[in-house]
Amino acid sequence: MSNIVKTDLVKKEGEVIKCTDVTCPVCGMSCDDCEIELTPTSVTTKNACLMGDAKFQELRSPHRLVYPTVNGERVSWEEALNAAADILVKAKRPFFFMGSETSNEAMAVGIEIAEYLGGLVDGNATICHGPTVMAIQDAGQVACTLGECRNRSDLAIYWGCNPADSHPRHMSRHSMYMRGFFTEQGYQSRKMVVVDPRRSPTAAQADLHVQLKPGKDYELLDAVMVALRGKELNPDTEKVTGVSEETIKKMAEMIKECKFGVIWVGLGIASTRGKHYNASIAMRLTQLCNDYTKFVILANRGHCNVAGFNHVLSWTCGFPFAVDYSRGYARYQPGEYSCVDALTRGEVDAVLCMCADLGGHLPKKAVEHMMDVPVISLEIAPGPQAFVSDVILPGVLDGMECEGTFYRMDNVPIYARSFTTPPFDFTKSNEDTLKQLLKIVKEKKPRK
Ligand code: SF4
Repeated sequence: MSNIVKTDLVKKEGEVIKCTDVTCPVCGMSCDDCEIELTPTSVTTKNACLMGDAKFQELRSPHRLVYPTVNGERVSWEEALNAAADILVKAKRPFFFMGSETSNEAMAVGIEIAEYLGGLVDGNATICHGPTVMAIQDAGQVACTLGECRNRSDLAIYWGCNPADSHPRHMSRHSMYMRGFFTEQGYQSRKMVVVDPRRSPTAAQADLHVQLKPGKDYELLDAVMVALRGKELNPDTEKVTGVSEETIKKMAEMIKECKFGVIWVGLGIASTRGKHYNASIAMRLTQLCNDYTKFVILANRGHCNVAGFNHVLSWTCGFPFAVDYSRGYARYQPGEYSCVDALTRGEVDAVLCMCADLGGHLPKKAVEHMMDVPVISLEIAPGPQAFVSDVILPGVLDGMECEGTFYRMDNVPIYARSFTTPPFDFTKSNEDTLKQLLKIVKEKKPRK
């Protein structure tokens, strides 16, 4: 355990381990105030939401994968690593998927293997906030930390997202219901706008629910910019967006009246028609809002360390996702080298998937291609990804069984401490597993 872990945070009383200030490795909020009590048969959590609690329960889950397999047969760790290395060195176009429930450190080694073998590498952003990441490259982002939102924001605009379901502690920790340094009245000093075609549980709590027509985000964002500038709206605006002129003007007024506003963008923007163009105009709207007051825009990122992959790959080669190393240097092309596209076109001849259930989430054609090529997975449970895998290397739970770093949704790196160890001794972490694999890969395929 690292020296920076304060020992009094992890207490052992006989077989019971108690730990405070635990970082939850589930959604992009990385809540770091969870408390755990671990016995040989049970896990009790405090502060974690239901989603977070369900993940912590994996520590004592009866279906946890605890030994390596090749073609469904139990094998030794060395045999499994050798089988995985054989698959990778024989492949002409291997594909590496770095899932988001693991540390930056593990992702860095996965990217190193992809670069060494000249493969494709991608991560979860490709099927969620990839368009938002592209919009940041395109338009630039006015951003801040979650702490600033908590302490300063008096207007939250949830656009295309429903945090009441997707990030259960979002409103209570960072946007609406808590008291902040400059928002001492808590809920009473804040306002909420929800832009969503659905009457979602979040929309039901809003001061203003802007119920636009599905897929009309770009047009509505454009109309809000027009209203902010004090110009006349196009007479067809309501017919196109489904939102009345009065509501658009009211929203523009709420923006001008607030002291510190935050647009929280969800996949309702990034994954509807228009994709990164929607996210780009949302970034530009935020820039315009700063002509009147202080305003920022943050992506409500869904999975634990999904932002981490974008950062680690960007440090490594300058691009955030969908990278191809086949020419010995990085080429970036979403839609070409990205996961779903490369797999559905049948372009890759081996897959290494770390900490993600691609089998349960990709389109049928992409999963069918995975059935046709050898697949190696670092997995903790026998889900759909395990069923399409030829080699399974048991995964380690980062932030519980090993320490590591996660990037929170506001791009702040959070150190996640461990409070127990993995239920096996052949690896200490996913980073360690990939380092062992890389060593064998280099032995089997030395660089010329
Ligand atoms: S809101 Fe997200 S990070 Fe916080 S406890 Fe729930 S799942 Fe974990």
